[in-house]
Amino acid sequence: MDLYEYQGKELFRRVGIPVSDGRRADSPQEARAAAQELGGPVVVKAQVLTGGRGKAGGIKLASGPDDAEQRAKEILGLDIRGHVVRRLWIEKASDIAKEYYLSITFDRGAKQPLFMFTTQGGVEIEQVAEESPEALIRLHVDPLEGFQPWIARRLVYGAAVEDPSEQRQIAAIVERLYRAFVEFDAMLCEINPLIVTPEGEVKALDSKFTVDDSALFRHPDVAEWRDVTAADPIEAFAREKGVTYVKLDGTVGICGNGAGLSMSTVDVVAHVGGRPANFCDLGGGGSAEGVVDALEVITRDPQVKSIFFNIFGGITRCDEVARGILEALGRLDMSRYPLVVRLDGTNAEEGRRLLQEAGRPNIHPEATMLDGARRAVELAA
Ligand code: GDP
Ligand code: MN
Repeated sequence: MDLYEYQGKELFRRVGIPVSDGRRADSPQEARAAAQELGGPVVVKAQVLTGGRGKAGGIKLASGPDDAEQRAKEILGLDIRGHVVRRLWIEKASDIAKEYYLSITFDRGAKQPLFMFTTQGGVEIEQVAEESPEALIRLHVDPLEGFQPWIARRLVYGAAVEDPSEQRQIAAIVERLYRAFVEFDAMLCEINPLIVTPEGEVKALDSKFTVDDSALFRHPDVAEWRDVTAADPIEAFAREKGVTYVKLDGTVGICGNGAGLSMSTVDVVAHVGGRPANFCDLGGGGSAEGVVDALEVITRDPQVKSIFFNIFGGITRCDEVARGILEALGRLDMSRYPLVVRLDGTNAEEGRRLLQEAGRPNIHPEATMLDGARRAVELAA
């Protein structure tokens, strides 16, 4: 679960990482009131679950309440890469002398958390990694040893931070960020920029915070922060139905059983020149009801032109999947979708027989994954 900047900052505040004082606002009037309360110049910040808000015009300085109201009018409703701004965060403006970058994330390859720190913050970190990789200090933490003070020192000295007060403050923030990462079961905690003010104070000016969905039961207060309106409506519907579904932007709807097979199917469809509309995994059971749910989700996407069922029966029984497909054809209006079906493995023959006997003109059986992908791409054209 991705948190909004202001939510991430709330967690930063709880572990003692310095952040600016701020207020939520969802309307120009609330932005004005917030600026009034905070006093002095403020920053009006779009709250959307995507980065690069500054470049997109979603972050603006305001001299006072009037100005904050005006800026809020400009930012609310703005579309930032498909995310419409409905919430704002108004915070006391900071003067910036330097912009650094600090993050901790999971390095799945190393099976350890990974700290990254550089004094070249403010810009996209991918750019730093590409253009001056030596400036990006990377350091793994052994989770069994936990945090050790030398970790912070190595990051700070490695990036050549020279000012002793800055070194101390950053070291403290590194330790607290590790605590936040562990305590809130995070997948990512990123501060970009971590700023130094002209007075030499170090603080987090931005926050990117991702909490592991599987650990949300341990953080009921954080779980409640989920903004259901921000989710893709089809993905939200899939979640409701218990279907594993990721929306993509092509035209071939894909349904497989098992994450591996479903991902391979996405790849094969792309390989034969098609564009997958989604990733959808029926899982191991593949009950008829699950198939109906999956088709209900996939057909909500207006971009879908054809659907490719790629089933390899193991625990999943192909006859059960076939029954699900026929059941869905009876319950949903599927007339405009050609369905390419490849059944293999447990009870495949029985499944194919069921489909054949049903005599539905929009069902196209194929024997292999490759032929199925080709057919589905053809039919989506
Ligand atoms: P992002 O573009 O989504 O990463 O949003 P950020 O919160 O990182 O803000 C983008 C940029 O706006 C920062 O890198 C800063 O340069 C600038 N910015 C944000 N807050 C302030 C502030 O309080 N004062 C000043 N002067 N600039 C700010
Ligand atoms: Mn940022």
